[in-house]
Amino acid sequence: MPDQFASTDPYEVLGVSKSASPDEIKKAYRKMVRQYHPDVNKEAEAENRFKQINAAYEILNDEEKRARWDRYGAAGMNPNNGGGFDGAFTGDLSDIFEQFFGGGFNNAARAGTTRRQARQGRDLRADLMVSFEEAIFGVEKPVDVTRLETCETCNGSGAEPGTQPRRCPECNGQGEIRQVRNTFLGSMVTSTTCPRCSGRGEIVDTPCKTCRGAGQVRKTRSITVKVPAGIDDGMRIRRGGEGEPGENGGPNGNLQIFIKVQPHDFFRRRENEILLDIPINIAQAALGATISVPTVDGEEPLDIQPGTQSGKVFRLRGHGAPRIRPDGSAAGRGDQLVVVQVQIPLQLTPDQRRLFTELGATLGTKIEPQKQGRGFFERIADFLNGENSN
Ligand code: ZN
Repeated sequence: MPDQFASTDPYEVLGVSKSASPDEIKKAYRKMVRQYHPDVNKEAEAENRFKQINAAYEILNDEEKRARWDRYGAAGMNPNNGGGFDGAFTGDLSDIFEQFFGGGFNNAARAGTTRRQARQGRDLRADLMVSFEEAIFGVEKPVDVTRLETCETCNGSGAEPGTQPRRCPECNGQGEIRQVRNTFLGSMVTSTTCPRCSGRGEIVDTPCKTCRGAGQVRKTRSITVKVPAGIDDGMRIRRGGEGEPGENGGPNGNLQIFIKVQPHDFFRRRENEILLDIPINIAQAALGATISVPTVDGEEPLDIQPGTQSGKVFRLRGHGAPRIRPDGSAAGRGDQLVVVQVQIPLQLTPDQRRLFTELGATLGTKIEPQKQGRGFFERIADFLNGENSN
């Protein structure tokens, strides 16, 4: 019989087919947890296998992770250190970047039964504010996270060092009590949570003084978050394994960091483009000029052609926000779009008044409605298509 644990393929570890339904996966997982839980199975390899089982389940139980596995295999699981099936379980420190909302926020860990099954810890949420420039160029920033951690005094057992929790005699360590009743319909099995150990399966006679027997303590940690260049308001960074601790050998939850970008005084962001309104005077618009325009990379020259109309959009290539890949790396940069606004002077000096009067005399006074075809909506469409014609 081949050793299913020699494989790093979660399907092989759990012994299910690639097309297994979530229910089948859950069933296979439960069966194997019962078989390999270190409290039950005293073989030398049991603990490692138990970890492998949990790691496999963590992938196959998560629709998104499972899809990623199906597509990329081990390489898809841990983009920053090049694969590592184990990384999914141990919660390495790599930043996994998530661009979309709605992807698996693990909140339900503690609901429901208290039976001794391995469970992933809850995800924690943190909010992180970055400046407009920090979002463009990336930054490292600390966030404070208050979370439960395994008590270091008792290593999570809840028992004072030097003492051992003992197997609950009421349920024989099962955490639940099964009763079989024979009725005329057949035998009926009911199971209830063991009242003596509250489902934990073991009893602590001398509780640890640090955690008062809970096995976990609440701690505030400052965690340095690497914010990738190009991040945008509302995006989320996930730090694997930095959430609440798992129970009964289950993996830790994740830390989900929600990014808020402070608005800039004059730059605005539209995905990978940076938008900027810039005023020019009517002489620059009519005669053309080279003006200096601020970008996030510093001042850049911009040629205004003679006859430029108000609202015309110019593109400064490569001065937008970096395009961000799912693993947080950058793939080139977007552009900066400069929208020129032709300013009509509010007040004129006597000299300017004279010059405008002379100019006006040469322009005539005949008024014609603008022809349809290059109207307002066409210009908006041009803008959205990134074309610059007016
Ligand atoms: Zn303790």
